[in-house]
Amino acid sequence: MKNDFKRIKEGKTELLVPSVSLSEKVPPKNPAFFNPSAKWNRDVSVLIYKTYASFSKNARTFADSICGVGARGLRTAVEVPKIDTVYLNDLNPIAIELAKESAKLNEIENKCVFDINEVCKFLNFEQRDVRKFDIVDLDPFGSPSPYVDCVLRSVNNHGLISITATDTAVLCGVYPNVCYRKYYGFPIRTDYCNEIGIRLLVSFIALNASRFDLSVIPYFCHNNLHYMRVYLKVVFGNSLANSVSSKIGHLKHCRNCNHRKVENLKEHNVLCEICNSKCILAGPLWIENLFDFEFVKETLNVLEKDEYLSSSETNYKRLLRMMQICKNELAYPFYFETDSIASKAKKSSISLDKVINSLIENGFKASKTIMNDKGFKTNASSNDIINALYK
Ligand SMILES: [Zn+2]
Repeated sequence: MKNDFKRIKEGKTELLVPSVSLSEKVPPKNPAFFNPSAKWNRDVSVLIYKTYASFSKNARTFADSICGVGARGLRTAVEVPKIDTVYLNDLNPIAIELAKESAKLNEIENKCVFDINEVCKFLNFEQRDVRKFDIVDLDPFGSPSPYVDCVLRSVNNHGLISITATDTAVLCGVYPNVCYRKYYGFPIRTDYCNEIGIRLLVSFIALNASRFDLSVIPYFCHNNLHYMRVYLKVVFGNSLANSVSSKIGHLKHCRNCNHRKVENLKEHNVLCEICNSKCILAGPLWIENLFDFEFVKETLNVLEKDEYLSSSETNYKRLLRMMQICKNELAYPFYFETDSIASKAKKSSISLDKVINSLIENGFKASKTIMNDKGFKTNASSNDIINALYK
């Protein structure tokens, strides 16, 4: 039995994990789920929670609602000292046994509370001494959509929720009907589909929140091939919740000339302003900022000050690079991509730095985006971009 499990270190934290999860290409659910390649995802989480805890009075309790072997929750307990109590829950008793053993290895048993329960029963359990949490994480297999209500009911005012979606094919437009049924919005299969997917996810959470007189404010969102992840502040009260309709809209995309425009929910015009072709609409989706720029600046402060985070084992340079790009990222709700612009222009691709410089020289605003290594945000239209780059 002993050989079935291995002790590893991730960040500052000792973790007991199933050996098979370290050898198989796709980590299995049995005996318990642990994904070693999600280290980056958990490094980002630790940075975000640490930043949030650096300014918030409400950062004492953390709920890891589908914790697996407890990697994220245990790392939070060890690496974010301001958090007093971490609640770890999973339906799999073997996973919870491993999480308990790991808590002992890190000498944090007194900070950890364990539960073996269905996610919504755990989050909305009324007999616990703590009814609502300051930070709630939801990282399910596939879509988070069935659990979003329970997460929103379980978070404190001005608390933070972090939600992962791994059904990226759905949110990126491979299965539009599934996307509508899960997220009440249509995606578009296009070169910037990941940003549209994240905006659909935020819109879905924001509309669910508004039913409970809550509103959400994105602190940070990011993605990679296998998941999209959003960090949202939750604020109680009608007045802010009432403004949700101004933050949700449609995105119009012209397949012919690559033009895009945000449309208000009520008054959208489906013809392309540039070439007059009929456009496709994505949405409803979140059309406000995906980042809180003050928060992003604060993550950079945390990264600079924190000796541990700046050690090589934490993806420090990658975190720093991402947050620096994010700090300067323009707030337009979609990006363009160098290769797809080149293919529209039937020319060869130009490097991202040159593209951004040319646009700025031509009087436009332009920035990189964390959504895509070849992506850029600009107030130039698709025609303006081609004229600035190729004519
Ligand atoms: Zn067009």
